[in-house]
Amino acid sequence: MSKTTKYSVKDLQRDFPNDGACVDFLFDALHSRKCSCGGEYKRLQGRRQFQCSKCRFQIAPTAGTIFHKSDTPLTLWFHAIFVFSNAKSGVSAKEIERQLGVTYKTAWRILKLIREALSQSTDKLTGDVEVDEAYFGGRKKAGRDNENLGAVLKSKSVVVGAVERGGNIRAKVEPNAQTKTLGSFLKENVNKDSSRLLTDSSNRYERIARGYDRYMVSHKSGIYANKDIHINNIESFWSHVKRSMKGTHKVISKKHLQSYLDGFVFHYNNRHNDSERFSSLLGAILSSAK
Ligand SMILES: [Zn+2]
Repeated sequence: MSKTTKYSVKDLQRDFPNDGACVDFLFDALHSRKCSCGGEYKRLQGRRQFQCSKCRFQIAPTAGTIFHKSDTPLTLWFHAIFVFSNAKSGVSAKEIERQLGVTYKTAWRILKLIREALSQSTDKLTGDVEVDEAYFGGRKKAGRDNENLGAVLKSKSVVVGAVERGGNIRAKVEPNAQTKTLGSFLKENVNKDSSRLLTDSSNRYERIARGYDRYMVSHKSGIYANKDIHINNIESFWSHVKRSMKGTHKVISKKHLQSYLDGFVFHYNNRHNDSERFSSLLGAILSSAK
């Protein structure tokens, strides 16, 4: 099978035909079949539980995972993860409700837990790195003479992002777009010594980008792309996320914005990974197990 072949719903049904297969998978991903007593763990028929053949110790492989204490069949959970892994523009609870035949409340909870299990890598970006900030949410209008501009900005969330060209992206909700905030974002996410920093001409970056090899694109003067001095990648990520959120999710509260962003970041960073995006997502979910 070629690397680019998409993992299909047929593949999913072959790999995970029933709850037992899902439980086996979870156990093997998180535990060893060999018990320290010398015995071997075996699944108890019809239960989400394994037991050692000798000392009778029991392990519930769903413990600490997002599947814990859920009455929803694991096959449906895996199906939701499959749908999520293929939905580059996001997936709504309504859609999961339809596809899985569960209640809206259950669908909403499943999606919430999937998103919350995703976290962004802390490896520093290198090479050509585009940095930019964006404003999300808020339904207030600035008014004719911008009399409500302050309220509009207050109702929006600041998101700061960085993308390594040809590589990964980061996007974080920040309390504001002040120099200090941007500075710590850069410090945490971009390698100073092995990167070329590309920003807009905002003078906020003037001081904090000291020590970075920085190039800026001046939007004001109409020079959008001077050869490779541009921030087109991060800007198209912002517009993709905004368009998707509008189309799929309507309104997202400040409280949940970061986990939605984590979902879009997961998709961006796995964009060339059609055959393995489902297993990458499942892996990310399991590595968040407590
Ligand atoms: Zn044992």
